[in-house]
Amino acid sequence: MPNAQLTPLEQALDALLDDVHVNSAAVDVSLPDALGSVLAQGQQAVVDVPAFDNSAMDGYAVNTADLDGPGCLLKVSQTIAAGHPGTALETGTAARIFTGAPIPPGADAVVIQEDTRQEEGMVIIDELPSSGANIRLKGHDIAMGSEILSTGHRLRAQDLGMLASLGIDTVTVKKPLTVAIINTGDEVVAPGQPLELGQIYDSNSFTLDGLLSGLGMRVIKKGIVADTLEATESALASAADEADCILTTGGVSVGDEDHVRQAVENLGQLSLWKLAIKPGKPFSYGRIDDSPFFGLPGNPVAVFVTFVMLVRPYLLKVQGCNTTSIPHVMVKAGFETSKANTRLEFIRARLLNRGDATQELEPFGNQGSSIMTSLSWADGLVEIPLGETVQKGQLLKFMPFSGIL
Ligand code: AMP
Ligand code: MG
Repeated sequence: MPNAQLTPLEQALDALLDDVHVNSAAVDVSLPDALGSVLAQGQQAVVDVPAFDNSAMDGYAVNTADLDGPGCLLKVSQTIAAGHPGTALETGTAARIFTGAPIPPGADAVVIQEDTRQEEGMVIIDELPSSGANIRLKGHDIAMGSEILSTGHRLRAQDLGMLASLGIDTVTVKKPLTVAIINTGDEVVAPGQPLELGQIYDSNSFTLDGLLSGLGMRVIKKGIVADTLEATESALASAADEADCILTTGGVSVGDEDHVRQAVENLGQLSLWKLAIKPGKPFSYGRIDDSPFFGLPGNPVAVFVTFVMLVRPYLLKVQGCNTTSIPHVMVKAGFETSKANTRLEFIRARLLNRGDATQELEPFGNQGSSIMTSLSWADGLVEIPLGETVQKGQLLKFMPFSGIL
């Protein structure tokens, strides 16, 4: 049975998304710097792509009206290479043409090289083309004036390529958010330092830095903060000055050394949740001045899961992105569980290819919230519904990391 005192994920996410103040600032950036950024305005095609009719293949440009049957013989009157427009096609002749080269006026088809034989300045057409064959028409990819990308679209590599194909070298995007990361814990040490007994290396700031950078956001690492109220407050106050959003890890439980809650309450507002998800129960949200604040758990897998499920959609919405959800596919479980879940669970799993061309999910052996290897080993997260035991072969929601990162 679901635990009544815990907040369901959906409810927490709805409350968070309702509280978003969408960032309206926009900046012009050059195309190479725009990867991961969100378009501040829709993009119209200012030219046709392609800009001229051109050959899709290496072969011969002909006028189909000149062809009197398979095996007909034509004089090769010119050669047209990509980047070198030819002249109008002489009646009754063929033009040698290469992929991407402009179709000469008077030609209405390209016969592919494989369907011809060459003979001393002549060509024999063995297969007759239909009118329009192997011609890429002007504007058939992108028609001038059409909207190719809408406001709020997050730019991927292929979008940059498409924009470049229109001759665009600068785009107006939403100003990338600056996010501060604070890592609390007296036991936490930066990698590169020697480790004393009882200490652990900070891994959370690296995971979060990578996740945020992948979203096209700027990161300020405020470093590791001692478990005192003063140190926590001072790091939070300076983060609120510098950043659009603040993330902390650790220190949000109810232990004596957990000062994040008090510090945020002293500086702004905070609501503390116990989420009905596993991993990631302790979670808090608030604001310091105008900066939203997220208090993530300390355990690395819980940090990843809460970021992905709650912080990521929130930040994408602040950033003005028109899609905030994570893509998923339904895949058969290659395992079963014996106990019903009391929290919605996100397990780390791999896609296993079976001999019969189907795939099934294989979970990592240790699903503890501190087990970082589970995340590195896996292909994605699998949602295990609340209050259910999993049967082998049951379809489960699989969210590949490729749709998240
Ligand atoms: P806490 O919520 O502060 O009690 O932290 C929960 C667990 O997460 C503890 O075992 C911490 O040592 C661990 N932890 C906290 N911060 C980090 C960090 N930056 N990197 C890796 N593990 C951490
Ligand atoms: Mg701690």
